[in-house]
Amino acid sequence: MILLAAVLLAAPAATTERAPIIDVHMHAYPATEAIPDIANPANGGHPGVKDGEAHLRAVLAEMKRLNIVKGVASGGSGDRLGAALHWSATAPDRILAGAGVRGSADTPLPELGALRKAFSEGRLKVLGEVTAQYAGLTLSDAEYEPYLALAEELDVPVAVHTGTGPPGISYDECCRSFRVSLGNPALIEEALNRHPKLRVSLMHAGWPYLQETIAILFEYPQVNADLGAIDWLLPRAEFHAYLGALVRAGLGKQLMFGSDHMYWPEGIGLAVEGVESATFLTAEQKRDIFYGNAVRFFRLEPGRPN
Ligand SMILES: [Zn+2]
Repeated sequence: MILLAAVLLAAPAATTERAPIIDVHMHAYPATEAIPDIANPANGGHPGVKDGEAHLRAVLAEMKRLNIVKGVASGGSGDRLGAALHWSATAPDRILAGAGVRGSADTPLPELGALRKAFSEGRLKVLGEVTAQYAGLTLSDAEYEPYLALAEELDVPVAVHTGTGPPGISYDECCRSFRVSLGNPALIEEALNRHPKLRVSLMHAGWPYLQETIAILFEYPQVNADLGAIDWLLPRAEFHAYLGALVRAGLGKQLMFGSDHMYWPEGIGLAVEGVESATFLTAEQKRDIFYGNAVRFFRLEPGRPN
């Protein structure tokens, strides 16, 4: 059934040369919020969009150009549910809205009842990006327990930030509790143990915690990892070495393409190129990473809008 779903979903490639892609790591900003004119760390390029609405339009244009048929988007500034919901309302066939949650003093966790309602009504599809690390916490901490129980009960996938953050982030007023050590994927093991039916995605694939990422993916086959940010912000050789090690460890069916483009719509294309240029991957492995693994993880079905 799942295989059939993958085949049917793969069908619309006729309009473009590139096979369909799912981007599981996108970020939305409120429509009227200014997009800061910060240079893209990968190539010095500028966002080229003035506010959240222009950013959304540019991202949708990039998705169309690159044949990205689905994207999972959560709030990129603070943890606003509204921005992601605006995206999915604007492009319901293309965008799945995620509940970006943190749990720090300035960005408290959302009201549980409101989340239950939004998940039950299908307006929100994913619990994440969970940026526990930015609040000085991990997914195993008690603060998240009722949220994980809710996700497990409603069979909603969870996507959690792992690995590192922007250099220097722990000195920033926003994120004084951020610690790089809290990004170690091994630290979510208690949460996984308490919730055996929970589907969890390790965002940023735990880089640079390679051994721990392998250990968690190996031991908990319901866990997947996305390649967001590391596929375009790391030196290409380092990204390919990391990706190659995960694939060599036999984990190619648990890796999903994600861009984490943030302010820069062009980051999506750079991320696609990061994976496409991995010559050590077979065509089938690329198809899994770009598309098939996400269809399975998010249980996407043909004939259902999202
Ligand atoms: Zn992240």
